[in-house]
Amino acid sequence: MRYVPKQPREGINVSDTHPLVEAGTLVVGPTAIFVLIVLALVFLIELALYFVPAEKEAELFRDWLPDDLVTVSPGDERLYETQLLVDRLAFHWADSPYEFRVEIDDSEVANAMALPGGLIIVTQGLLDQVESENELAFVLGHELGHYKNRDHIRALGRGIVFSLVFAVATGSGDAAGLGLKVSDLALRGFSRKQESRADEFALAMVYTQYGHVNEAWRLFERWDDEDHSILDLVTYLSTHPQAGDRVESLESLAVSESWPLQGRVTALQW
Ligand SMILES: [Zn+2]
Repeated sequence: MRYVPKQPREGINVSDTHPLVEAGTLVVGPTAIFVLIVLALVFLIELALYFVPAEKEAELFRDWLPDDLVTVSPGDERLYETQLLVDRLAFHWADSPYEFRVEIDDSEVANAMALPGGLIIVTQGLLDQVESENELAFVLGHELGHYKNRDHIRALGRGIVFSLVFAVATGSGDAAGLGLKVSDLALRGFSRKQESRADEFALAMVYTQYGHVNEAWRLFERWDDEDHSILDLVTYLSTHPQAGDRVESLESLAVSESWPLQGRVTALQW
């Protein structure tokens, strides 16, 4: 048999569907599937939060500390004073299921975090930058606000939330098995909405504690003015709103609630 070469017919690589329709299917299809998956995961996290009530969470993490946390000495008076301030603030949140514990991370980078079970971590770098108790109270109140709204659990990520559900469901209450690390959690931010709700909670708390909101956001005003060499030391800003925006919205919240902008500032106790 002899092989007779011949050209393939015209248009063999062109589909019969209009290219725009085809492009549409290729974009819309996967996007719709992606959106559905995201919605399902969001729903599952809400469901998981329902199955792990704050009381269970507090119990499971009662004495837990992340493995990679390097704390300052337990005798450090800033630790004692910060814990005292958290306790005084938390007193205004009467039905809190948490017993808040403060630890000071031995890091020069300014940050503050809400970890499961009521463990609030502030860094040495943050304490170096606050200049009054009122400033510190706002930062701590903001973290308390994340507990109030349970943002800290949502921020853990799906994998850990499900391990948490599993641990609670099977009663194998071992928080250490979840493998949570400060280094992973430090950079997990919250949504804008979660941040502003935590800010509102914090400002109300500061007002209740001091009877005014003077200096509550003074730290952010300073950060807003600083040059960038100092801002490099502030990871707080990578997980929290921009300092300038924050000052504006806190100020207008205080004005709309008629919380006094002036009042006696309390000095830090160290
Ligand atoms: Zn926050």
